[in-house]
Amino acid sequence: MALECRNGFPALAKTFVTAPRTNSDSAGRPRRRVVVLGSTGSIGTNTLDVLCRLPDRFQVVGLAARSRRDDLFAQARQFQPDWVALVGDEAEPTGLPAGVEFLSHPDAVARRVQADDVDIVVSAIVGAAGLRCTWAALEAGKTVALANKETLVVAGPLVMQLVSDRGGRLLPVDSEHSAIFQAIADRPAGVERVVLTGSGGPFRGRSADSLKFVTVEEALAHPTWRMGPKITVDSATLMNKALEVIEARWLFGLPPEQIDVIVHPESMVHSFVEFVDGSVLAQISPPDMRLPIQYALTYPERLPCPARRLNWRELTAFDFEPPDRTTCRAFDLGYEVANRGGTTGAVLNAANEMAVEAFLERQLPFADIPRVSRAVLDAHHYDSRPTLDGLLAADRWARQEVRRWTSLNRSRP
Ligand code: NAD
Ligand code: MG
Repeated sequence: MALECRNGFPALAKTFVTAPRTNSDSAGRPRRRVVVLGSTGSIGTNTLDVLCRLPDRFQVVGLAARSRRDDLFAQARQFQPDWVALVGDEAEPTGLPAGVEFLSHPDAVARRVQADDVDIVVSAIVGAAGLRCTWAALEAGKTVALANKETLVVAGPLVMQLVSDRGGRLLPVDSEHSAIFQAIADRPAGVERVVLTGSGGPFRGRSADSLKFVTVEEALAHPTWRMGPKITVDSATLMNKALEVIEARWLFGLPPEQIDVIVHPESMVHSFVEFVDGSVLAQISPPDMRLPIQYALTYPERLPCPARRLNWRELTAFDFEPPDRTTCRAFDLGYEVANRGGTTGAVLNAANEMAVEAFLERQLPFADIPRVSRAVLDAHHYDSRPTLDGLLAADRWARQEVRRWTSLNRSRP
């Protein structure tokens, strides 16, 4: 894949590729050194699209992925980082430019994100696999632009404690949380509640019965966002919104009763914040992840962005409706976990990850994804104050339970 800057600006991208690697921009400010974890995915490629337009502000020092070797090496040729990692793939790195170090072990990546020459880590690995390097970055007091919501679902309280202990910074990339972060600005004390918006996914308005035989292709056809397969399926079950309630609970330190969700099919209003005086602020822009990604990278500055712009002349109406909690059983799991905390986030997340994987492999019906997650959550041994090791053990246990569950159900006549 030749990674070109989308929507034009090829000259800028070319300049970047051939530009001398100076460590300051034209105004003499140091360039910020960025690692992109999950660089070949949907968030990763959008991040590189943002970065390639800001060559005098940012320098890419490391890239990590687990798949799409050719894409990763093309990124290495374009961005000339110090290292790239293809986790779990030890084959000869043919096609990698000279001088770019090749890594394949996750420990090596975790060490590299802690290095002195890293300023910002973009955490865009999918699933609980993203926790390890995000944790490592925060342990070293780095700024993390967080797309990997699973990090907060699994270990929210410990992660927020780590941020405060080590002086790092966690900046949201998830569009709803970025919207809330932008609307709250410096007024956290006056927040009465936040309202996360969600598109409702591809099955909005459908009955539970009609969802029994949904195909993988139907679940992957999201109406407004182009994303990786796991989060796209999560959006179809509404588990994504459940995970986002948990993410907001820890990121903003809000109790679940101060977090609401509303369905907004146009995906233009990315969330609301209601303040104690009754004033409501929203962040509005077309669905394009390059805006929240760039804001996390340049915060607190705002710079021109390649993301699509609102066309005010074409705007007619915004629709809002309450989520259908009866059809989408996953949704309530989010509030339950946000209330109980402890090991519940790690268990729900792992069960859901495994169930989604089984659905994508056509081993589990769509409607069983929330059922499996419910069953595993109910069966788990709850600990209200787990350590990080305890959470990782809960994650492993839940994965094993789903394997057992799916094989039991497969063997049924
Ligand atoms: P994706 O499947 O498109 O990409 C995932 C990336 O992670 C790939 O580069 C893959 O190779 C890499 N990866 C997977 N496991 C890895 C491992 N063990 N080590 C190193 N790399 C690994 O996923 P995505 O849609 O880009 O989502 C990434 C994260 O961002 C998820 O947590 C998702 O919930 C969150 N997010 C995504 C969007 C979106 O628009 N795509 C929006 C909000 C939040
Ligand atoms: Mg989101």
